[in-house]
Amino acid sequence: MQERIFLSSPHMSDEGFEKQYVQEAFDTNWIAPLGENVNQFEKELAAKVGCEAAAALSSGTAAIHLALKAAGVGEGDVVFCPTLTFSATANPIIYQNAIPVFIDSDYETWNMSPKALEEAFVKYPNVKAVIVVHLYGLSADMEKIVTLCKKHNVALIEDAAESLGTYYRGQHTGTFGDYGIFSFNGNKIITTSGGGMLVSNNEEIIAKARFWATQSRDQARHYQHSELGYNYRMSNVVAGIGRGQLKVLDKRVEKKNYIFEFYKRELGDLKGIEFMPSNEWNTPNYWLSSLTLNGNIRPLDIMQALEKENIESRPVWKPMHMQPYFEKYDFIGEDVAENLFRDGICLPSDTKMTESDLERVIKIIRELWGL
Ligand SMILES: *Cc1c(COP(=O)(O)O)cnc(C)c1O
Repeated sequence: MQERIFLSSPHMSDEGFEKQYVQEAFDTNWIAPLGENVNQFEKELAAKVGCEAAAALSSGTAAIHLALKAAGVGEGDVVFCPTLTFSATANPIIYQNAIPVFIDSDYETWNMSPKALEEAFVKYPNVKAVIVVHLYGLSADMEKIVTLCKKHNVALIEDAAESLGTYYRGQHTGTFGDYGIFSFNGNKIITTSGGGMLVSNNEEIIAKARFWATQSRDQARHYQHSELGYNYRMSNVVAGIGRGQLKVLDKRVEKKNYIFEFYKRELGDLKGIEFMPSNEWNTPNYWLSSLTLNGNIRPLDIMQALEKENIESRPVWKPMHMQPYFEKYDFIGEDVAENLFRDGICLPSDTKMTESDLERVIKIIRELWGL
C-alpha cells in the first residue's frame, strides 16, 4: 500500500519555529498559566489580520460561544446561521439557549446568500445576531451582508475558522463583523493541535472575553465570581506552536493555491466538473480544493476510488437543516446548500503533498472518466 495522502493534516515549519517557542515555555517554566507565548500569539495574529485585539482560546467553538455572549445572545434569541457549515458554527447558539435559523447558500460564493438573509430579516425582525462563515477559505459576499446587518442594527459574527489567510477586497476575513473567530484545529490551514482566537476592534470586549474564559474571576484576593465563567483559555505551550505556525501561514496559502491550480489544470477538461467559485473580490486561502459534479460520476465514486488507493477525500458539509439534531429549526432559502452537499467533494489538499502525490490523485480521477 502506498503512503496515505491526507485531506489536510498538520504541517509544522521546516525551520522548527514551533519547537523553539515551545522550548522557551519549558525553559522559563511558563507551561501554565498563560505566559509570553499567549500574549505574543494574540498580538501577532491581530497584526496579521489587521484588527485591534485578540483573545487566544481553547478552540474556535469556544470563540464563537464567547462572541455570542458578547453580542448579548441569550435564552430565546434568534441567531441567523448558514446552513452549509460545520456543526461547530451552530452548536454554541444552543449553548446560549438561543434559536438558530438556518440560511441557504448561493452558487456564486457557496456561502450565506444575501437574498435569503434579507428574507430572514423580514420573517425575524427581532433577530439578535448573524453568524457568517467563509467556507473552505472562500469569502462570503461581505459588502451585502455587512450592509444588511448595519441596516437592521444586528451584531455580525464572522466564523473565519477555515479562512485564515483569505482576503475580501484586500481586507482580511474575520475583521468585517463586530467579532471574528479563527480555529487552529488539527486540519485547519495552520494548527496548534487545537485552539482558537476571538478577534475584535473593541479591546474592552476582548478583555471581557479573557475574563469569561478564565472562570470570570473578579479582582479580589479570594476567589470571587459575579458572573458565570468558562475554562476556555489557550495554554502557553499550545500558543508557542501557534506563533511558529503563523510564520509559515503565507507559505501554506501559496501551496494550497498551487494545489488548487494543479487540479484545475489537470481536471478542468472533465465533463461535469465545476470547481468552487472564484470572484474578483475574493483572494481565498484555498484551504480545501472543492468541486461539484453534475454528470454520471458522483462524489462517492471518486471518494471510493481514492480510498482504495489510501487517499483521503470527503463530501461537502452536510447542511445543518438536514441534520437530525437541527432539523426542527427554521430554514430560509431554496435548495442550493442541499445541491452543493449532494454534488460536492473536497479533494486532498494537504500542503505536504508532492507533485507525484498530486499526479496519483489526478490519475485515479481521470481513470473514472475512462481517460
Ligand atoms: C473547524 C471549524 C470550527 C470550529 O473550530 P474548533 O477549533 O475545532 O472548535 C468552526 N467553524 C467552522 C466552519 C470550522 O470549520
